[in-house]
Amino acid sequence: MALAPDNPFAHVSTLPYELPDFAAIRPDHYEPAIRAGMAEHRAEVETIAGDPEPPTVANTLVALERSGQLLQRALLAFHNQLSADATPVLEAVQERVAPLHAAHRDAILLDRRLWERLRALQHAADRGEVVLEPDAAWLLHTRLTDHRRAGVELSDDQQATLRGLNVRLTELEAEFGRKLLAGEKAAGVLVTDPAELAGLPADSVSAAAAAATEAGHDGAWLLTLQLPTSQRVLAALQRADVRERVQRASESRGTHGDEHDTRATLLETARLRAVRAQLLGYPHHAAYVAEDSTARTADAVQAMLSRLAPAAVANARTEAAELAALLPARAGSGPRDLRSADWRYLSEVLRAERYALDEAALRPYLELEKVVRDGVLEAARRLYGLSFVERHDLVGYHDDVRVFEVFDADEPGEPGSGLGLFLADWYTRPSKRGGAWMNNLVDQSGLLGRRAVVVNNLNITRPATGAPTLLSWDEVITLFHEFGHALHGLLSDVRYPSQSGTEVPRDFVEFPSQVNEMWAWDPEILRSYAVHHATGEPLPQDRVDALLAARRWGEGFSMTEYLAASLLDQAWHRLTPDEVPTSADDVAGFEQAALAAAGVDLPAVPPRYRSTYFNHVFGGGYAAGYYSYVWSQVLDADTVEWFTENGGLTRANGETFRRRLLARGGSQDPLASFRDLRGRDARIEPLLVRRGLGTTVTR
Ligand SMILES: [Zn+2]
Repeated sequence: MALAPDNPFAHVSTLPYELPDFAAIRPDHYEPAIRAGMAEHRAEVETIAGDPEPPTVANTLVALERSGQLLQRALLAFHNQLSADATPVLEAVQERVAPLHAAHRDAILLDRRLWERLRALQHAADRGEVVLEPDAAWLLHTRLTDHRRAGVELSDDQQATLRGLNVRLTELEAEFGRKLLAGEKAAGVLVTDPAELAGLPADSVSAAAAAATEAGHDGAWLLTLQLPTSQRVLAALQRADVRERVQRASESRGTHGDEHDTRATLLETARLRAVRAQLLGYPHHAAYVAEDSTARTADAVQAMLSRLAPAAVANARTEAAELAALLPARAGSGPRDLRSADWRYLSEVLRAERYALDEAALRPYLELEKVVRDGVLEAARRLYGLSFVERHDLVGYHDDVRVFEVFDADEPGEPGSGLGLFLADWYTRPSKRGGAWMNNLVDQSGLLGRRAVVVNNLNITRPATGAPTLLSWDEVITLFHEFGHALHGLLSDVRYPSQSGTEVPRDFVEFPSQVNEMWAWDPEILRSYAVHHATGEPLPQDRVDALLAARRWGEGFSMTEYLAASLLDQAWHRLTPDEVPTSADDVAGFEQAALAAAGVDLPAVPPRYRSTYFNHVFGGGYAAGYYSYVWSQVLDADTVEWFTENGGLTRANGETFRRRLLARGGSQDPLASFRDLRGRDARIEPLLVRRGLGTTVTR
């Protein structure tokens, strides 16, 4: 079915940098474009796979890179809009096209003729009959890996089994997410006596009242739960008994034997993932996942987590002792033990006392426009020579979106020096999902003559009309972080579109974004953006010092709860099918044993997620991959040290980081890019020092 010519996706956008023509795109344009895109892509792949000529780089590798452009145009715009401005219509489209797209990908990856052509090309290269450029060699390697991991080498019967497993696992992951969401609504703590809310800020109290009304408990207060174990309200609630109720409600999610119980779901998921891994020739799911990451093996992941754990736990024990000293002594019985429910509350008490850190007093110095222009963009100007010009003539997918043209060094504003477009979508709205993220709308590619168009999405609360947008310190860090992803996309300088910018393994992609956070702390950049919005007064030095001093407090807790969750994730996915427990009653025991075996079973520091509400892992994408954040942090901390050793914020450093790392994208082994930059493999020590763990491990 041909796509109507008036559908904006039917042709390449004629706007600058091929920015999708959002003024013309309507919600009902997406589905026909995606369906026509899949048909077109399938036909293109059919031509490549059925080519009677022997395979060459041009007729196979490059032809594949040129295929599927309509589909890609439509999907990039669609997925961005779905995340940033969803409507029921778009969600219905997603429900219809997601399974079709999964099947479409599978059909290509399981096409044995295509696989044979790629293998023949590899053999010719191995025999020296074909010379591959390094990026083409890496592309061929990753394509062969993708086909093999999808099961192309399996027999027809095995492929049928695999398809069945994939379908069932997709259902189970959706079921886990559904139960969790419904269970979370039911698991909130209902409070009827306002005295129990002592300490809670007024806006949280009114939110709790509204939540209770919505749940049919008019006149009461409902403390709803967020996903992680440790709940935000625990920082403020003064009554220890109420904190304890919240903590118990949080940790027992998914275990009540009712319709929200997730234990049977997660056990079947763990078993079927192990079955699938063995069918594909791996000992377990963790090995399958690691192969496709920069870690390479599950043992390498385990080794890294095991090296970090003792240092983090020692640090958490020190923090626990300091917090326990703040507990009121009970008459006749002395101080009671520190409980997990108390941690956040006491931690706030300590931070306020020791560091005199007042988050609210910082905000007037952190005005959005100034932080962006004189902080985030200024750091990119100083490092990479970039300049930014707002394009009021170009529109985004929502009125909130602002469009900036990005110019390369030396000739700002000159025609031809344009690098791409940066779209900024800062404010929260009901149609936007939570959190912060970066999307590509156009992938940079020399082959296709394309430059990058990228989006940053945040969820900053919009101020009252006419008032300035004043940020929290966390929001400032998030702005720098997401812009690090944007730079990875914008500064990409590769030939093949599938290797563009952020097309790198998951345990690598957070590395450049985390590095970019360092510029928020840089004294020169900080002086430039942290200025009182009304008086123009710079942020006083004692506040800066307090921020710096407070930076390490709590690292023991956060690192330990994170590592515990990562180790738990690995433990579930290092099992063979027969080793997965079969009874829901065994889940808690398995979890406790896994934490104890890894030495991270501190009663006061439970894992950031327990198995029964570990949505990253059992609800989808991060199975056996929750470790990725800290893996990226190892690279990040080592790179921050490299910048520091070489003089920090300089054009020369920016240029080196850009050319050796950011520009390479996924066009070679990412760890080779790191080695080019650092001159060696990554070392774990800089991360330990940053986390305040340095002294513990130097022995
Ligand atoms: Zn990120």
